Amino acid sequence: MAVFHDEVEIEDFEYDEDEEKYYYPCPCGDRFEITKEDLMNGEDVATCPSCSLIVRVIYDLDDFMEGEEEVVLPPKKELEKV
Ligand SMILES: [Zn+2]
Repeated sequence: MAVFHDEVEIEDFEYDEDEEKYYYPCPCGDRFEITKEDLMNGEDVATCPSCSLIVRVIYDLDDFMEGEEEVVLPPKKELEKV
């Protein structure tokens, strides 16, 4: 069972275009990371390489799907206020 340290919206991550990875600061001083490929596969757990903390990434999978123009979009969730 995974226990998330936090839930972070993808917009709050920093994107590295060269590595195609998203980063978010970890309290230990390192950074959580998740690859764009992971997100496209529906993976939503960003891990920190230096400690055991993990965060859940809040994102819209449709934004990472490519090649399918005519997908039926699921109903939009209510926007969560931080
Ligand atoms: Zn850490």
